[in-house]
Amino acid sequence: MTDTDYTTRWRSVTFDTSVARLEQLPEGGREVAFAGRSNAGKSSTLNRLCNQKALARTSRTPGRTQLINLFTWGENARLADLPGYGFAKAPEAVRRQWAGLVQGYFQYHKALSGVVVIMDARRPLTALDQQMVQWAAAGGLPVLCLLNKADKLSRGAAGNALQQARKELKGYAGQVTAELFSAHNGLNLDQVRSQIAAWLVEPPGPAP
Ligand code: GDP
Repeated sequence: MTDTDYTTRWRSVTFDTSVARLEQLPEGGREVAFAGRSNAGKSSTLNRLCNQKALARTSRTPGRTQLINLFTWGENARLADLPGYGFAKAPEAVRRQWAGLVQGYFQYHKALSGVVVIMDARRPLTALDQQMVQWAAAGGLPVLCLLNKADKLSRGAAGNALQQARKELKGYAGQVTAELFSAHNGLNLDQVRSQIAAWLVEPPGPAP
């Protein structure tokens, strides 16, 4: 797929449906999940990747039903927006429901091809972020950690945050990478788009 092809795909992403239970997820095709601590900028990142202002919306209500929002990226390719985590005030039952949903999703949903974890570059890899990376890696999935809001750091501080995060991520088995990102100014946008696009597109099969 050429750069132009995948840019067109990103721009034509549309909302598909919300599901509350894993059995409701469509089977087949490929899916990439977006996870992140509430307020890390998951909605802004999805909106920036898709070049749309209000594709993904946040809910700030902790007790709200935990839904996975699905977006159509291309034929048989979907983006899945997972419920944000880390609400200090979330009731225990909600947290447990979230953990069950995410773990089951990472472990059993065959279409899942990769996980993007959005973090705040000023405080990356919180305990819950690490938990997320751990679950995804344990499910054999490649993980891309986006250190978002890099525009809020000086170039030097951003570089240090990236280096530190990469060092910490070395401890995880499997393909776990980190990049600086900014949903606000589009830092590393093309690179991140093509990385995720590669997960969403079947590898070319042998010539017929
Ligand atoms: P979500 O809860 O993870 O979906 O977070 P939102 O996308 O709603 O963003 C939370 C807040 O962070 C909002 O005020 C955004 O404008 C802000 N924000 C998100 N991404 C960035 C970024 O890259 N840079 C800066 N400076 N602010 C951001």
